[in-house]
Amino acid sequence: MRKLPELSHRHADHRSYPPGVAYMDGQYLPMHEAKLSVLDYGFLHSDATYDVAHVWEGAFFRLEDHLNRFFRGMDALHMSVPYGKAQVTEILHNCVALSGLRQAYVEFICTRGTSPDFSRDPRQAENRFIAFAIPFGSVASEEQMQHGLHMAVTDVQRIPPGSVDPTVKNYHWLDMVKGLYAAYGRGADTALLVDGNGNISEGPGFNVFAIKDGAAATPDTSVLLGVTRQTVFDICAQMGVPCSARNLAVEDLKKADEVFVTSTAGGVMPVTRIDGQPVGTGRTGPLFNRILAAYWQLHDSGEHRDPVMYPEPAGK
Ligand code: PLP
Repeated sequence: MRKLPELSHRHADHRSYPPGVAYMDGQYLPMHEAKLSVLDYGFLHSDATYDVAHVWEGAFFRLEDHLNRFFRGMDALHMSVPYGKAQVTEILHNCVALSGLRQAYVEFICTRGTSPDFSRDPRQAENRFIAFAIPFGSVASEEQMQHGLHMAVTDVQRIPPGSVDPTVKNYHWLDMVKGLYAAYGRGADTALLVDGNGNISEGPGFNVFAIKDGAAATPDTSVLLGVTRQTVFDICAQMGVPCSARNLAVEDLKKADEVFVTSTAGGVMPVTRIDGQPVGTGRTGPLFNRILAAYWQLHDSGEHRDPVMYPEPAGK
């Protein structure tokens, strides 16, 4: 055998993985031990659906909504796992409890799995369930939460709904990654994709809202129906702020008084510059600030809270 160049040790070094706990193939594992066969079609074909919930101050937020979306996605893709909602809930709670994390990003995945003879027929594959809890992460850094994100409206088209149903949460991210490189090339922090009909769509891991003359709007097609997006609808309804899901032209976004994005990873996050131009005053806006405060206040109310039962610390 010829001598190969020295390899990176990153993949073998457990310190280069975030701390956390995973569940796969019937076992709870430290994060760095959760490894997948390269023959899994979730990896080879992005043939998978998934969801991400978060734990804030020791409790899940809107877990039921994430579970419903996940089970609906599996049905749409002809996938199934040998667990019902109650068992998946238990697994997710256990991952978080075992990790000890009070603020966590909790992902659960169903991949197409593998088939013994590498058949291309997806019906031959045995679907695989994986879940993990790692520290909570956000689309926006603390600095970006303060001053707002700079977003590039790219000409990258979000994969059309006729090809991949965007309401089934999926790993078809090459359009998103292309958008991110286009945005970085223009000095922006993040990217927004378009729908091919002159309207905006969504970005890498978030929905977008525009506020004009006191009313909020967000795209209704070619997007994931985000759980955080739904929370913003609920908050706006409580505040008496009109909020609609409709087509939004690129120009509507650029003329908005305030713009923000929503994701489980970070909540509601301000956008203060688009393509180098200030949004409104160029600072986080008053309505955004009220929605942001209401979003985190909702985490304290019982309505959407599902507390994790952590093991008693030793000696107690
Ligand atoms: N759109 C896409 C493509 C996403 O991947 C995500 C979340 O990861 C969102 C929107 C926001 O959805 P949610 O608020 O449920 O996290």
